[in-house]
Amino acid sequence: MKYEAVIGLEIHAELNTESKMFCSSKNDPFHSEPNKNICPVCMGLPGTLPVMNRKALDWVIMSGLAMNCQINKFSKWDRKNYYYPDLPKGYQISQYDLPLAYKGFLEVGGKKIGITRIHLEEDTGKLIHPKGEDYSLVDFNRSGVPLMELVTEPDITTGLQAANFAQELQLILRTLGISKTNMEKGEMRVEVNISVREMGAQSFGTKVEIKNLNSFMAVEKSVDFEIHRQTEILQKGGKIVQETRGWNEDKRLTFSQRAKETAMDYRYFPEPDLPPVEISQEWLSQIKSIIPELPAERRTRYKNMGVPANYAEVLTSIGISGDYFDKVVRICKALNARSVANWIVQEEVNFQIKPEFFGDLMQLIDDKKINVTIGREVLKRLNSSPEKSPIKIVEEMDIRTLNGANELIEIIDRILKTNSQAVNDCKKGKDMAIGYLVGQVMKETRGQADSIKTREIIVSKIASGRDD
Ligand code: ADP
Ligand code: MG
Repeated sequence: MKYEAVIGLEIHAELNTESKMFCSSKNDPFHSEPNKNICPVCMGLPGTLPVMNRKALDWVIMSGLAMNCQINKFSKWDRKNYYYPDLPKGYQISQYDLPLAYKGFLEVGGKKIGITRIHLEEDTGKLIHPKGEDYSLVDFNRSGVPLMELVTEPDITTGLQAANFAQELQLILRTLGISKTNMEKGEMRVEVNISVREMGAQSFGTKVEIKNLNSFMAVEKSVDFEIHRQTEILQKGGKIVQETRGWNEDKRLTFSQRAKETAMDYRYFPEPDLPPVEISQEWLSQIKSIIPELPAERRTRYKNMGVPANYAEVLTSIGISGDYFDKVVRICKALNARSVANWIVQEEVNFQIKPEFFGDLMQLIDDKKINVTIGREVLKRLNSSPEKSPIKIVEEMDIRTLNGANELIEIIDRILKTNSQAVNDCKKGKDMAIGYLVGQVMKETRGQADSIKTREIIVSKIASGRDD
């Protein structure tokens, strides 16, 4: 019997607003001393009233639009009631039946993954359990921090897809500038729901939830482990227990945390202290107008410029290198985008280098005024003095040496071509063979070549396998 996995994600992200969701306390759960950024509202004292943070609303609507969601024109707040020491109010203000955004999708690795909903709520405080002590401490700095929750449809089928979805979401939220999304810090928290069923079966199997995953790798590996574990149980005729499991990073396995036999009744009801949220067309248009270029759009734009897909991916995922690339090709229109991308992705580039100077360097190489080896040397010098023009750097490199170097490289190329046996020996790690090749170059130049430089060039050419 063949089995297939069914996976859905629930992802929380803390929004990076100045103040908290329903009060003016500072939103800074990490850097302040414990219980510093608190007030009667986020402490849940009787008689206080919450006031909505407009920016948090804007941002969740924006993320909904960025992920192809419908936006509820009429949205509201609900109380989710439960008691826990990190929740002094005894309830969390959340959204139940009318979330801000619903029915969206994200395309990840060519696969469309449905988004059920995105809503806004408030984060809880944090419990700290000092090692070896018989008490716990509570820090309310995080109480009331704006938290968005995104729930996907059960459209995911592998650990890698789950991790890729989370990574794409992180990239989008960072591009929008609305959440720092560091998973190790809990600024973004991924929970996965997994079940396994007979291939092609109509109904879903019993699902297991994995919590507290603090890296993309943990998401991928825990899901794959869990698929395997559940499949084995089913193959042996066993039954899956509905439960919450954790991930043990060292042992690389999931373990049972608590059984979830009945659904918790949170007694949701409309929040009486807050008015509903009506979202006008003007409000939506205003948010739409400030959405920056999204990762998917950026990848497509790069591909249309002739940048290979894997470089487009790197330039998109490390936004700063993409921004730098954009500046360089905007300033130097004559340049070949593909080779600029190549240099930015492959070489170590100090982004303090003025984009026009980086463009000048690319132009020198494009015009064959200098070769790639010298280009790398110029880049090295630019990296340490980013204010300096590469044209000046080339001038200062002593034109005689430069010509010499160009000549030298031609001679080296010739020697390498005519001594393929020695080149092969070098590749196998025989140092003697390098010495032989250096000797041949010295012979050819009647001792005028710089032997150290010659050796360096030969080693780097053989190592990179490049034919400059
Ligand atoms: P719950 O009420 O237990 O939180 P939801 O219906 O809200 O369950 O779904 C939570 C997440 O689990 C969603 O991402 C959903 O796509 C996913 N999901 C629902 N049923 C299954 C299932 N049988 N197997 C795997 N994932 C599921
Ligand atoms: Mg749920």
